[in-house]
Amino acid sequence: MEKIKMTTPLVEMDGDEMTRILWQDIKDILITPFVDLKTEYYDLSLPNRDATGDKITTEAAEAIARLGVGVKCATITPNTARMTEYNLHEMWKSPNGTIRAILDGTVFRAPILVEGISPVVRTWKKPITIARHAYGDVYKAAEMEVEAGSRAELTVTTRFGGKKTETIYDFECDGVLTGQYNKASSIESFARSCFNYALGTNQDLWFSAKDTIAKKYDGAFRDTFQRLYDEEYGAQFQEKGLTYFYTLIDDAVARVIRSEGGMIWALKNYDGDVMSDMVSTAFGSLAMMTSVLVSPQGNYEYEAAHGTVTRHYYKHLQGEKTSTNPMATIFAWSGALRKRGEKDNLPGLQAFAERLEESCLDVIRSGVMTGDLCRLWEKGEAKQVTSGEFLEAAAARLSHTTI
Ligand code: NAP
Ligand code: MG
Repeated sequence: MEKIKMTTPLVEMDGDEMTRILWQDIKDILITPFVDLKTEYYDLSLPNRDATGDKITTEAAEAIARLGVGVKCATITPNTARMTEYNLHEMWKSPNGTIRAILDGTVFRAPILVEGISPVVRTWKKPITIARHAYGDVYKAAEMEVEAGSRAELTVTTRFGGKKTETIYDFECDGVLTGQYNKASSIESFARSCFNYALGTNQDLWFSAKDTIAKKYDGAFRDTFQRLYDEEYGAQFQEKGLTYFYTLIDDAVARVIRSEGGMIWALKNYDGDVMSDMVSTAFGSLAMMTSVLVSPQGNYEYEAAHGTVTRHYYKHLQGEKTSTNPMATIFAWSGALRKRGEKDNLPGLQAFAERLEESCLDVIRSGVMTGDLCRLWEKGEAKQVTSGEFLEAAAARLSHTTI
C-alpha cells in the first residue's frame, strides 16, 4: 500500500508523562503506517525545556509562524513540586502561554460528539465551539485592599505627561479594588481569529459581552468586531451564508442553551474561561475535546484540551496498562494533518484525517472505549479497553477503508 505524501512538514511538539507515551503510540499505530509523515520535531518535555533554558519552546513557536501548522502534546507546567521532581534550574513558564504570546492567538475548543454519549442539554445536536480571548482583563489586573476613609481614583498619565483622573469610589468602610486593561491590537487580533475560524469551519459566529454595563470597555470589543465585519469579513460571510451577530451575554447564555449547537461562541477572557468549562462538562469529558490556537496571520496549533494525565503515568511506570483516552490527542493530529492538507492542496491528506477521525469514532460507536467513557455510555454494556487496544482497533478499521 502506497503511503500518503506530504510536502511541508508539520511542527511536532512532543510533551510529557502519559500523553508522551500516547504520542509515540499514536504515531506508530495510526499515522506512520499510512502517511509518509514529515515533521520538524521539537521536544518540549520538561527535561528538555530545562536543558535548553526553555529556548526550545520559543523555537517551536517560531517554527509554527514559519511553517503555518503545528501539533502539540500536553506538557507539564512546573510548580514547586515539579521543581524537586525534575530537579529544575528554574520554574519555567507554561509552554502554552509562551506559544500563545508569540503567535498572539485565540483558543478554540470544541467537543467531539459521538452517538451513545449524549450532552446533558438535550437540544444540543452539534458541537459548540468556544473562542476565548486569552489576553488581559482580570488575568492581568492590578488589585488592592482599601481601608475605610480612602478615595480610589483612576489616573492615566499620557505620553506628554498630562493626567486624566476619575474618582472610582470614596470608601466609607474597608473594601477591595481592581484595575484592568486590554489592548486595541489584542482585541483586533481576537476578532480576526474568530472571523477567520468561522469562515474556515463554515460556522456562524456569536460574540457576547456586557456592553450595557461596561459601556466603554466591552463597547470597544463590540465595536471592533462590528468594524472588522463591516469593512473586511461581511462579504465573505454573506457569500457562504453564514451569520455574525453581537448580543448581550445574558441573552447569549439563554440562546446557547436553547440552541442545537453548531456555532462559534466568542467570549472575553473570563467569560470564555468559565463558559468553556460549563460547555465541556455538559458535553461529557475533557478527553473528548479538541483545542486549537489560531493566530491572526492564519497559523494553527492543535493540541488536546487535557493535561499530561499524571495519575495514569505513575501507573504506567509501575508496569500497568492504562485505559487513558487518546481521542483528544488523535484529533490534534488529524486536525493538524487536515490543515496541512488544505494549505498544501493535498486532498489525500485531508481525506486521511477524516478517515482517521471516523475510524476512532467508529470504535466507540461499536461500544469499545476507554474507562472514562464507559461511565457515560448509554447503549448497553461498554467494553473497556486499554489505550493500546483502542489504537489497534482504530488502526484495523483505518486499514480496511480505501486510501
Ligand atoms: P489532567 O492531566 O488533564 O488530568 C486530570 C484528570 O482528568 C486525570 O487524572 C484523569 O482522571 C482525567 N483525564 C484527563 N485526561 C484524560 C484522558 N485523556 N483519559 C482519561 N482520563 C483523563 O490534569 P492535571 O492532573 O491537573 O494535570 C497534569 C499535568 O498536566 C500538570 O503538570 C499540568 O501542568 C499539565 N497540564 C497541561 C496542559 C497542556 O499542556 N495543555 C493542560 C492542563 C494541564 P482520573 O485520574 O480520575 O482517571
Ligand atoms: Mg477554567
